[in-house]
Parts: sequence; structure tokens; C-alpha cells
Amino acid sequence: MVNFEIARKRMVQEQLVARGITTPHLLDVFQKVPRHLFVQEAMAVQAYSDGPLPIGEKQTISQPYIVALMTDLLELTSKDHVLEIGTGSGYQTAILASLVRRVWTIERIRPLAMQARKVLDSLHLLNVNIKVGDGTLGWPEEGPFDAILVTAGAPAIPETLAAQLAPGGRLVIPVGNEANQTLLRIRKAADGTLSQETGIGCRFVPLIGQQGWQLNS
Ligand code: SAM
Repeated sequence: MVNFEIARKRMVQEQLVARGITTPHLLDVFQKVPRHLFVQEAMAVQAYSDGPLPIGEKQTISQPYIVALMTDLLELTSKDHVLEIGTGSGYQTAILASLVRRVWTIERIRPLAMQARKVLDSLHLLNVNIKVGDGTLGWPEEGPFDAILVTAGAPAIPETLAAQLAPGGRLVIPVGNEANQTLLRIRKAADGTLSQETGIGCRFVPLIGQQGWQLNS
């Protein structure tokens, strides 16, 4: 039998702290959120391993370090309203929901969105709205957002998402080709000007949609 709490502690120390993630409240949340509930039961024993895992529908739950790094880059505060594109398993959503006021998250594959809703509800994370649809279009009725996180690889920064950032807002998104991307952070200044910082190389499943990759390309 795996002791999930001990596995989580090791994940935090060996995968996050050892790679430079030191924000205390972030580490607390990773210590608490039960990642093994967001994967299929047969994979629960691998849930705290140092890599992505399949979640069905040809999609993945991202590597814990990548989830932590992207969350850290968002510079979240407890008052923030956050938009996430690519709910997937809902694990990243749970991390965000534990740190901010409200999360709006969009997933294009209905069964994944439904499963994520179930797990988030079971953890009483009630500050999450989930929608099934094309996240590249954002959620304009609920914006602007203090932070936007895209958890699938995009060919370019979707203009619709940049437009839905509040002044002072941060957008974190992997951009590149379908095999390799670079993590970018875009900031919107008070006057609406956008600036961009470049982070590490990464590899995500494709962002499919009107402002992403086309399904049959
Ligand atoms: N953050 C997730 C987690 O913690 O499990 C992992 C997300 S997975 C790497 C990327 C997800 O983005 C997939 O579930 C995929 O279906 C979804 N996706 C791809 N294109 C999308 C789009 N245009 N709108 C919404 N979701 C999209």
C-alpha cells in the first residue's frame, strides 16, 4: 500500500523544492491536494511520480513540476479571478482553486470535464466554474481575468485571451510547434501594453481550436 501523504511530501521536496519552487503557500497546496484522485484508479500508485500520466481521451495530467512552475509564474493572490484553458483531469484547477478567489476553466472534451467536476466537487472546491468548449475563445462574459493559464501547446498567443487579461494581468502559455514549446509569460500593463518573458522548453498536448491548432492539421 502506498502512503499517499508521504508520496506527496517526497514529490514536493524532490521534484518542486529541489528544482527551485520555494513559494511557501504554493508548496502547502501541493502538499494538500490529493493528485492520486485525479488519475484512473489503476494509476494511483504512479500519481506522485516525476512525469505526466495519461488520463484517457489521448490527453495527459501534466508533470507536477510543470504544474507548480506555471502556477508560480502566474504570481497569484487570494483575490484573483483566474481563467484556465484545458481542464484535463482537474488537478491544476484544484491547485488554482486552493489559491485564488474563483477559477473559470474550459475543456473541449466533455467526458474529461465531467470527471474533473466530480473530483473537484468531492473535494468541496466550490469556487470553480467549468465549461465545455473552445477555450481559445476565452470566457468573455466573465472577464477580464487577473491571470490566464493555458495548459495545452499553442501555435501562437491567442489574441482573444490577451484581450481578456485585466490591467496588471498575467497570461502563462506554452507556444511553439506541435512537438516542442516554450513557456511564455505575457503581462498587461495598466495602459494595456503587453510585454513577454520567455521561460523553459516544454512539451504539451496541442491546443485545438479557432485560435489554436486545427483538428485535422
Ligand atoms: N491541466 C490539466 C491537468 O492538470 O490534468 C492537464 C491538461 S492537458 C495537458 C491539456 C488539456 O487541454 C486536454 O484535456 C485537452 O483536451 C485540452 N484542450 C486542448 N485544446 C483545448 C481548447 N481549445 N479548449 C479547451 N481545452 C482544450
